[in-house]
Amino acid sequence: MTDPLRLIRPNILALEPYATARDEFKGGDISVWLDANESPYTNGVNRYPDPHQKELKGVIARLKGVDENTIFVGGAGSDEAIDLTYRIFCRPGIDNVVAIAPSYGVYRVAAAINDVEYREVELDENFSLDTDALLAATDANTRLMWICSPNNPTGNAFATEDLERLADRFDGMLVVDEAYVDFSTRGTMLDALPRHKNLIVLQTFSKAWGMAGLRVGMAFAHPEIAAVYARVKYPYNLNGPTQREVVRRIADGLQGHVEEIRSEAARLAKGLGEAEWVERIYPTDANFLLVKVKDASEAYRELIGRGILVRNRSGMPGCAGCLRVTVGTPAENDLTIAAFRQLGHKPQTQAPARKGEVSRTTSETDIRVEVNLDGPAGSEIDTGLKFLDHMLWQIPHHAGIGLKIICHGDLEVDEHHTMEDVAISLGEAIRTALGDKRGIERYGFCLPMDESRAMVLIDLGGRIDFEWDVAFTREYVGDTPTEMMSHFFKSLASSMRCNLHISARGDNNHHIAEAIFKAFARALKAAVRRDPLNSAAIASSKGLL
Ligand SMILES: *Cc1c(COP(=O)(O)O)cnc(C)c1O
Repeated sequence: MTDPLRLIRPNILALEPYATARDEFKGGDISVWLDANESPYTNGVNRYPDPHQKELKGVIARLKGVDENTIFVGGAGSDEAIDLTYRIFCRPGIDNVVAIAPSYGVYRVAAAINDVEYREVELDENFSLDTDALLAATDANTRLMWICSPNNPTGNAFATEDLERLADRFDGMLVVDEAYVDFSTRGTMLDALPRHKNLIVLQTFSKAWGMAGLRVGMAFAHPEIAAVYARVKYPYNLNGPTQREVVRRIADGLQGHVEEIRSEAARLAKGLGEAEWVERIYPTDANFLLVKVKDASEAYRELIGRGILVRNRSGMPGCAGCLRVTVGTPAENDLTIAAFRQLGHKPQTQAPARKGEVSRTTSETDIRVEVNLDGPAGSEIDTGLKFLDHMLWQIPHHAGIGLKIICHGDLEVDEHHTMEDVAISLGEAIRTALGDKRGIERYGFCLPMDESRAMVLIDLGGRIDFEWDVAFTREYVGDTPTEMMSHFFKSLASSMRCNLHISARGDNNHHIAEAIFKAFARALKAAVRRDPLNSAAIASSKGLL
């Protein structure tokens, strides 16, 4: 076996890495930092972060039971480690890599980006590993072998003994991607690192640890290899808030989520297995199931129709007819099981969309309003008042309805007519769209907690009532008078014929207004929703008569 250091590209071995300001200084008791051209004003992020991520690496070392000097931490998730691995070991246009198929798509894309030939060896029909076939695909220029275990999208983990044997026999770097290892009972290759200088193990905080949004991935390798990653990476590849946040979340632990995902995976597998369209569910060591169905494209579409998005993997080698389904919360898994059981059943005939249109021309204004309560959410809004437009835009966006409002008003006189007539027309359009109100939820309430808080209660029962408890401190927000806000909603309540109570507090007038419109939209969304259990019921005995 060649010394793996000999596999490193010559230009990388010869590299004189960039030395950060903080690298050049060791020890001493500094209180005045004038070495890095930073801003001196403390705001939490004015200083460069630790390029060596000492504290975070210490925490990871304890968590994983490895030495700090075996760790590389990447700031674009595992993707950074994958790309760096190519850059460190593979000479563009010359070297090649070998990987199993089907597997994670990033290995291939990163190979193409780095101009490296990508050789695939297909797994058999049970997705098991053929080590001889993998080795047979290598040649003198094969620098890397990618093995994802548990494998994405097949879900199975490979035996660590097989992987160790592969490391022994392969004359290049074996990269084992353990993104899902926290869910697996088959063990990690981290324990094998001291025995194999040509082994690199990738892990991530994106899956079991619930930090996909932070983009933090890890590579573990022999200290001499890990040191090369440290030299090649961008100096400040992991920002300060992220380093602190990961340390904090590791201290919080996994909070029982892995156990729940594991037991939910088993329950989901059982539930999906009973669905008519499901032909096979592959065993999983991860937080997803590969599910073979009668018609993957049709199933994928029908699930979307029920608001459930899965990954269609039917185009991948060995995965014909397969969907990849991530394990969700128990409630989400219930919905998913129910939806899979409905596959192929024609959906009940849809009730027609509830639409309302109002055109109003007065001597002061000329308005057209169109409402579609059953979406799709979309808007075209132009009242001539920029701030009002911005507020009205919250309604389709947060209520999930279609809304068009075009108004030409006498704004040069004042804003009063425009705001009043928009409110009246909007209320009428919603009332028309609601029709006889059969089967709707009728009540809505909402309390979003942004910088400000607003509470909006709606009852579409038919009685008109309006309460307003909002304290604006300025006369205008943008081009829109705040005193008109209460008049706007009062006019809306009477033209919608609804009971509308609004209260709001906050420091910033813009935010208060925005919170009110958002809360109104959310409350409206809840109130106009069709009650699936009660589709023929009359929402109210009063007011409808
Ligand atoms: C999700 C996943 C990762 C993690 O990617 P990040 O960039 O760390 O979010 C790595 N490898 C595989 C196989 C994955 O499925």
